[in-house]
Amino acid sequence: SGPMRRPDAGLPEAAAHEIPTGREARRFDGQTVIVTGGASGIGLAAARRFAAEGARVVIADRDAAAAARAADGLRAAGAAGAAGAPCDVADEAQVRACVAEAVARFGRLDVVVNNAGLMVVKAIPDLTADDWRRVLAVDLLGAFFFIREAFAAMRPGGAIINVASVHALETTPQAAAYAAAKAGLVSLTRSAALEARARGLRVNAVLPGAVDTPMLWDNPNVRAGLEVVDRAAVGTPDDVAAAIAYLASADARFVQGAALVIDGGRLDRLGG
Ligand code: NAD
Repeated sequence: SGPMRRPDAGLPEAAAHEIPTGREARRFDGQTVIVTGGASGIGLAAARRFAAEGARVVIADRDAAAAARAADGLRAAGAAGAAGAPCDVADEAQVRACVAEAVARFGRLDVVVNNAGLMVVKAIPDLTADDWRRVLAVDLLGAFFFIREAFAAMRPGGAIINVASVHALETTPQAAAYAAAKAGLVSLTRSAALEARARGLRVNAVLPGAVDTPMLWDNPNVRAGLEVVDRAAVGTPDDVAAAIAYLASADARFVQGAALVIDGGRLDRLGG
């Protein structure tokens, strides 16, 4: 595996919606999945994976146009159902409306992927109260809103997957709010799992290392320090999507409150 150059512009997976073929498993036939932040990066890869395995997918994203485009792409690739839902996960009322719309449109809710997230890269002297509120609101509170709505809307068998980060375990300078939010999300995963069990639901988290998405390459530390990075240190959105799909599936029926690190064996110093 040779070196990988930093992409100059948009990343390829944002444009390509071809659903991978050749998979025999269709673990989500008849199910409805909401993916937050599903218009880009890891969320889009997860949406495509669920669609490829038979699910109807709601792409809930703050970027309404990108969500609609992503849903069009899923439908064009043969998804059983796809809808874009404009939703800011930090807005309680919008989250409630998103879950209600998914149930109204597709009749049921089986999986929620709390993937929407953002990172503020600033040293502590520059980090403002508003930075903290924004990061905690999207990366932590938004997941809580969806978990609460999902608990009410899901039948037994439902699954929630929270996309945290290796920053929850071991972080880098200039990521204080993000690392705290992701550590909080892992904690919330364990708390929610305790209450999920009695409802026949499961709640788990994935903790990706550096993944090749716009978020990674938007990170000024990555841009400044690493014109060329080792390909083995950077995963693909599909690597994370496969783990999300596993945790959402009946294959993981005995997996509850887990925090699954997906970083190629390297607690990475580069990524989101
Ligand atoms: P991305 O920037 O490519 O995609 C994020 C998506 O979330 C975008 O479509 C954006 O519009 C949406 N979004 C942002 N704020 C939102 C809000 N308030 N409400 C609804 N949607 C919102 O990023 P990505 O790399 O695919 O990141 C996805 C998740 O993975 C994030 O939670 C991120 O923290 C996590 N993660 C990423 C990496 C990495 O290296 N890329 C590593 C570990 C964890």
